Amino acid sequence: MAASSGEHMALTVSEDRATQGSGSQALANAQRQLATAARVVGLSEGAHQMLARSRREVRVSIPLRRDDGSVEVLTGFRIQHNVSRGPGKGGLRFSPQVSLDEVRALAMWMTWKCALMDVPFGGAKGGVVIDPRLYSDAELERITRRYISELLPVIGPENDIPAPDIGTDERTMAWIMDTYSVSVGATVPSVVTGKPISVGGSLGRASATSRGVVHVALRALEHFGLQPAASTAAVQGFGKVGSGVVEFLSQAGVTVRAVSDQYGAIANPRGIDSQALHEHVAETGTVVGFAGATPMDAARLLELDVDLLVPAAVEGVIHADNAPHIRARLVVEGANGPTTTAADQILESKGVAVVPDILANAGGVIVSYFEWVQGNQSYWWSAHEVDERLRERMLGGWERVLTMSHTRSLSLRDAATATAVGRVAEAHGLRGLYP
Ligand code: GLU
Repeated sequence: MAASSGEHMALTVSEDRATQGSGSQALANAQRQLATAARVVGLSEGAHQMLARSRREVRVSIPLRRDDGSVEVLTGFRIQHNVSRGPGKGGLRFSPQVSLDEVRALAMWMTWKCALMDVPFGGAKGGVVIDPRLYSDAELERITRRYISELLPVIGPENDIPAPDIGTDERTMAWIMDTYSVSVGATVPSVVTGKPISVGGSLGRASATSRGVVHVALRALEHFGLQPAASTAAVQGFGKVGSGVVEFLSQAGVTVRAVSDQYGAIANPRGIDSQALHEHVAETGTVVGFAGATPMDAARLLELDVDLLVPAAVEGVIHADNAPHIRARLVVEGANGPTTTAADQILESKGVAVVPDILANAGGVIVSYFEWVQGNQSYWWSAHEVDERLRERMLGGWERVLTMSHTRSLSLRDAATATAVGRVAEAHGLRGLYP
């Protein structure tokens, strides 16, 4: 018997629920965003097909000698989605949720991010299927070095340049730089970005993603008639992105009412003291138990009545089930892919503006680009220079997306993705298809 349209709807929604946050859901969302952009820019079917696939996908086995002498074999990926505008660029993620499809989606989003923000890179991403909390520092170093050794033929300062992402940090980047440098017999700082300052990192890189999110969030609040000092916010995630977002929003006078991490959520309607929360997390490793707030249900954080919601954790957290309950005026995506396409439509119909990830969280890769330029020239800029150039590019990106959204009557996401896809397609067209 044919399903009624009601049943069909229910099936679609439950599929969204069953796979939300999964790698295949992330890739399906990325593909749907591309399909919309392809229609907007009038891409040929061939060009669309090309951009829907990764240029190169590498899967590696990583045999690890554990500290107790046993051997375990891990799986890693590096995917270069597109290199028409420059070398592959994108982070390296250590997480048990890493899958081929997730890395494919993240690599595609890096292509759009770099194109939209005028950063002369293509898009790439790497991942290792591992919960880094379960491994010692020595084991993490061996995993990183072996993973990079397997990728030596495809990475390099002119080929593909990794950076930190979930589960990796500047220490991981130092190991990558050292492994690559030892293999070529010379120190090569620009093979990786997000390095410690003492081995060629850039001032301002560690805080760049959070600063960029806040530059755009403040400008967007003002655009929608909300004064930052009179606005309220909720932030999901207190890692490399979320913790800085809480700090910089607070410095701008925004009242941050709730914060969560992977262990739980806390709230204080009068505002959370950012400095005190950072000290608590430095001591305990989680926002949970912070004395200056009360515990709350982490899922409810997304539905709080605040002006600004910043998802700064993982993909697929705003989906068809919770989007109808979101009360924020503005969502600014600190994470990559936090909103599913189904949720995008629901939020649009509710009048909730979504500043998309490829614009909002581009601060990290922008300063990665600055780090790569500085490394290539062996000449380092002041923190002020980095911060000013970052601000200029973030606000320029916001204006570009806003203008496109107005002139073509598109959501901010569709305007951003279409701009990026148009640029990548143009670069590809000019270079031509070889052979
Ligand atoms: N992992 C970050 C992102 O998703 C930074 C990538 C980079 O700097 O290459 O944008």
